[in-house]
Amino acid sequence: MNADAAYVIVGASLAGAKAAETLRGEGFGGPIVLIGEETERPYERPPLSKDYLLGKAGRETIYVHPQPWYAEHGVDLRLGARAADIDPAAHEVRLADGSRVGYARLLLTAGSAPRRLTVPGAGSGGVLYLRRVADSDQIKETFQAASRVAVVGAGWIGLETAAAARAAGVEVTILEAGELPLLRVLGREAALIFAGLHRDHGVDLRCGVQVAEITSSGGRADGVRLADGTRIPAEAVIVGVGIVPFAVGQVTGVTGITGFAQVWTWVAFTVTLVVLAGLLRRARCAARDDDVFRAGRLPAVAGDRVEGERVRE
Ligand SMILES: Cc1cc2nc3c(=O)[nH]c(=O)nc-3n(C[C@H](O)[C@H](O)[C@H](O)COP(=O)(O)OP(=O)(O)OC[C@H]3O[C@@H](n4cnc5c(N)ncnc54)[C@H](O)[C@@H]3O)c2cc1C
Repeated sequence: MNADAAYVIVGASLAGAKAAETLRGEGFGGPIVLIGEETERPYERPPLSKDYLLGKAGRETIYVHPQPWYAEHGVDLRLGARAADIDPAAHEVRLADGSRVGYARLLLTAGSAPRRLTVPGAGSGGVLYLRRVADSDQIKETFQAASRVAVVGAGWIGLETAAAARAAGVEVTILEAGELPLLRVLGREAALIFAGLHRDHGVDLRCGVQVAEITSSGGRADGVRLADGTRIPAEAVIVGVGIVPFAVGQVTGVTGITGFAQVWTWVAFTVTLVVLAGLLRRARCAARDDDVFRAGRLPAVAGDRVEGERVRE
């Protein structure tokens, strides 16, 4: 690649920031533009459901790099900028404000967004999702004000949020459609241990239930109604039911592009960061545009091949 041509990265989070670091680390001297729709500089999300949510770690601990790092390494960090579309023929990214950024190589690290509940009442105030640092702040504030919350979904995020609620002295009911929490990812033996651990800490864990409605009064959630008619009162409802991919215009469409991704494991997060650096070198985009690459965490989508393995949430 021409050393003067820009390497544009869309998605200013862990994968994007680490990719920029790797490019510089491996001697790429051309312009790097890192585009992110969030207004925070790249940060890590795991603390948002752990020490940061528990109030044990401060804001400064979550960032991937100190603020000056970007200027010091010649990385043009553009925050609050959403990539709306990609024009592979013109080698341009079009931003939501109408401006365009030319690229020689484009790396998509747009990650994923929380899957939304679609039951009646799901749009009520007090129905919360945990993805961004502001979400973690809001849930932390909720725990300070509420005495009882419900958590929909007993995946990692649901369980960790419930644990944080209990640590804050809040009553919590977890509503899980499956037979056990984490059954699909950990298997029965470990799932039983997690279920017991949470119940031992006072979590009201209800498995094999279907959420039918978020009940509300004055536009704010005040409980959850289950398909069997049971109503669980709650001052807030935190939803952790998986992720969906962020789409960046046509190029992130699943058909016509084979990508690559790293399977993030919850137990080997640090190791994965090292692997990510290697990914940038190995990435090969087989279909429409050989100058477009993808990295980071992508949910499994039918038809999307990710080097032999499906990415899970
Ligand atoms: C609360 C929480 C706890 C977690 N805990 C763990 C854990 O303990 N262990 C573990 O392995 N994983 C954990 N994860 C998952 C881990 O954080 C993700 O795997 C990781 O964030 C993936 O990084 P990424 O950079 O690929 O994507 P993301 O973190 O999803 O970042 C993508 C970025 O791209 C931006 N973006 C999207 N579309 C556009 C666009 N069109 N234009 C501009 N910017 C865009 C998004 O706003 C976002 O900032 C956790 C996730 C959450 C939410």
